[in-house]
Amino acid sequence: MSTVLREAPKSKKPSPFERLRNIGIVAHIDSGKTTITERMLKVSGKIRNLGEVHDGEATMDFMKEERERGITIGSAATHFTWRKHDIQLIDTPGHVDFTAEVERALRVLDGAVLAIDSVAGAQAQSETVNRQLNKYTVPRIVFVNKMDRVGADFKRAVESVNKQLGLDVVPIQLPVGQGGEFCGLIDLIEMQQVKFPDKSDDPSEFEVGSIDKELLEKAKEARHHLLEVLSMHSDELMEQLLEEVEPSVELVRLVVRKATIHDGLVPAMLGSALRNRGVPALLDAVVEYLPNPLDKGAVAGTDPKSGEEVAFEPTPEAPLGAVVFKTVHYSTGDMTFVRLYSGTMVSGKGVYNPRLRRHERIGRLFLVHANSREAVEEAKAGQIVACMGLKESATGDTLCQKDRQIAYGETEFAEPVISVAVEPKSTADRDRLGEILACIAREDPTFHVRTDRETGQTLISGMGELHLEVVVHRLRDEFRIDMLTGKPRVAYRQTLRRAATIEHRHVKQTGGSGQFAVAKIEIEPMEGDGYEFVDDITGGKITREFLQAFSDGISGYLESGGKMGAPIQGVRVRCFDGKMHEVDSSQVAFHACGVGAMREAEEKCGTVILEPIMRVVVTAPEDYLGAVLGDLNSRRASVSQIVDEGGDKQVSARVPLAEISKYATTLRSLTSGRGDYSMEPDGYEPVPRHIAENL
Ligand code: GDP
Repeated sequence: MSTVLREAPKSKKPSPFERLRNIGIVAHIDSGKTTITERMLKVSGKIRNLGEVHDGEATMDFMKEERERGITIGSAATHFTWRKHDIQLIDTPGHVDFTAEVERALRVLDGAVLAIDSVAGAQAQSETVNRQLNKYTVPRIVFVNKMDRVGADFKRAVESVNKQLGLDVVPIQLPVGQGGEFCGLIDLIEMQQVKFPDKSDDPSEFEVGSIDKELLEKAKEARHHLLEVLSMHSDELMEQLLEEVEPSVELVRLVVRKATIHDGLVPAMLGSALRNRGVPALLDAVVEYLPNPLDKGAVAGTDPKSGEEVAFEPTPEAPLGAVVFKTVHYSTGDMTFVRLYSGTMVSGKGVYNPRLRRHERIGRLFLVHANSREAVEEAKAGQIVACMGLKESATGDTLCQKDRQIAYGETEFAEPVISVAVEPKSTADRDRLGEILACIAREDPTFHVRTDRETGQTLISGMGELHLEVVVHRLRDEFRIDMLTGKPRVAYRQTLRRAATIEHRHVKQTGGSGQFAVAKIEIEPMEGDGYEFVDDITGGKITREFLQAFSDGISGYLESGGKMGAPIQGVRVRCFDGKMHEVDSSQVAFHACGVGAMREAEEKCGTVILEPIMRVVVTAPEDYLGAVLGDLNSRRASVSQIVDEGGDKQVSARVPLAEISKYATTLRSLTSGRGDYSMEPDGYEPVPRHIAENL
């Protein structure tokens, strides 16, 4: 379907919004994300001397601590300008174990650059990030990097993105030479050729001119293909093509922009970040084709009070709607990174956090540049800022106004799938440890900490073994706490096997004040991982207050995981009858009654044990395919597909987490280091009976 395009009135000065781009670079590890970022900052002239700071004392403290702890605040977001546009580059971590971290960064992006290695094509991790980009419908540009590498093949790389990632990719450039011969590129929109200097890698030294005669035919063909694809997105362009009218550059650009932002078209570009080639054109494309915050429109959330959908206009005048997407803990306080969707945030003023149900005060606000930060008085819709002063707001939280509430709750962070018992080597560190782990949990919503009820041990849980190893290393390197760690344990869950009706009496009337609570419930398994409580009490047999306490008792028991210690999920309870006592009934009594009722229900209904399943994508040269498959089979894997990928084989499979510990090491030895994999949680499934019996 195509729509009529409206050209922006030429005379109007663009608003600050139209000149804002919130983007991220996503890639498989080693595709050159860091190098591209560096080059972007360099060509935009932003890189200054390290440590250059423009504001007061407090920031200096942060800088010092960053240096000492070897972390950089710029790793969350960097701001620079290109052709009078403000570009905010949001960091998207590359590691497979940290999909949650990638996801929460992706959700605040308006557009993305997907970097692909010109030799390897689409790789395992590009698939994972691409799926996440699809989830948040983030418009993207493909940048085929490393065109200077031996074996570089632009066409093949684009085809692999098309096929393996299922994207609608169309080249808007062509390479001139590849690998050792890579010396220029052709811009298919302007029909111009960019020539790079032979020796110099100076980003400002390139010539733009007409296309070499011997390349013209190929360029015309590629442009024709581009226009054909674009005509599917614009009637005007379609008509001009049919009438054999040469469309204007402006119209072509406009259609690329619209199709990229609204129809999922992905323009493909190329270059060599290492040699500074193609990066300025990539920045031009970011400005031309990726959306500004207005293009995204009002972002919908829910009103936490009514549960109804609300959306505020993406303007500074609208009520505040902002989301915390990263928290970094410092000894002097937390640095909280916030994306504003609507409204204005002012330093020194309060903001309302609907999850905490209270106000928090914004101390100071900063725009973050590559190696410095700039204190600002206020931040407006569309912007990304770092705030100091928020004490308890955590990653994923919404910040708004109390009188106009909104919660952007759509990011569901995956529950941890693996846990490990930890203990500091020195008992002196014990007190400090709890505090630090709590801070890390605030930074990272997929990292949980709890104390084992039976053993009193501290259990840390996360998304994979590597995730937890990184935390343990961080404790050692940043906080100087050496740890002893136990064996990793898989986080099992349970569901109910069958429905039951239960009457539970919690009655203690010996001496002093007694306890009295009676409730009748119907309990049954339900789809999904939730807990639902239906109040079917008539005639005020149990007050709302007591019923709430009763329900809390049940949910507490479900979370703590009953007899086996594995959380019970997918439970619906209907409370239809019960009794209170004038004197002896209390919230405490009804809470205890809930716990007791659930304990009884667990016995009567029976439970099914569920285990986390991982989606694993392995890429390896064909010679190793047999070994990889044989090994996967021994791990209870179900292989869903095997495809060719840039000369290698790629295997997709679902494997129980319990069977796939230390896979990196195994794969390395199976494939002489030539295999590669990515892994992410993909739901829970019942544990086979013979294995469940041993748990
Ligand atoms: P990241 O893991 O995606 O951040 O990748 P890096 O930017 O760290 O790059 C990985 C490796 O590829 C480094 O050794 C870079 O020097 C190299 N690299 C990056 N861009 C290019 C390029 O355009 N050409 C070549 N030949 N190497 C590159």
